[in-house]
Amino acid sequence: MKWCAICYREQRGFGFLPALIKQPQKPARRFCSMLCLDLYARLFKESYGMIDMTDFERESIHACLVPLGECVAEIGMDKPLSAYSKEQVLTLIEVIVTAYQDAMRKGSPEVPF
Ligand SMILES: [Zn+2]
Repeated sequence: MKWCAICYREQRGFGFLPALIKQPQKPARRFCSMLCLDLYARLFKESYGMIDMTDFERESIHACLVPLGECVAEIGMDKPLSAYSKEQVLTLIEVIVTAYQDAMRKGSPEVPF
C-alpha cells in the first residue's frame, strides 16, 4: 500500500512528477487528494524539493500537543505508554495524525489556501 507524501493516508492516485518541472533527480510522489498534492507542489516549488521541516510543518506538529495531552489524560496520566493496550495506542496515533492533518490543511501565510 502506498501512502500520501503529505498526510500519510492511503494514496489515491494523485501524483507529482518532479521531472515535469525540470527536477528529474527527485522521486515522484503520490497523494490522497488534490489538497495534499497542491500543498506538496507549493512546498516543492518553493524549496526545489527540500522537504525538510518548514516552520509551518513544525507549527502543525505543535498543534498536536493539546489533542495528544487530552488523549493521554483520558487514558490516565500515570499509565506508562508500555502499558497501553493496542486500542489505546491506535487511538493516540489517530488523534495525533488527525490533529496534524487538520493543522496542515488549514494552510498558513507560508502555504496559503
Ligand atoms: Zn494526503
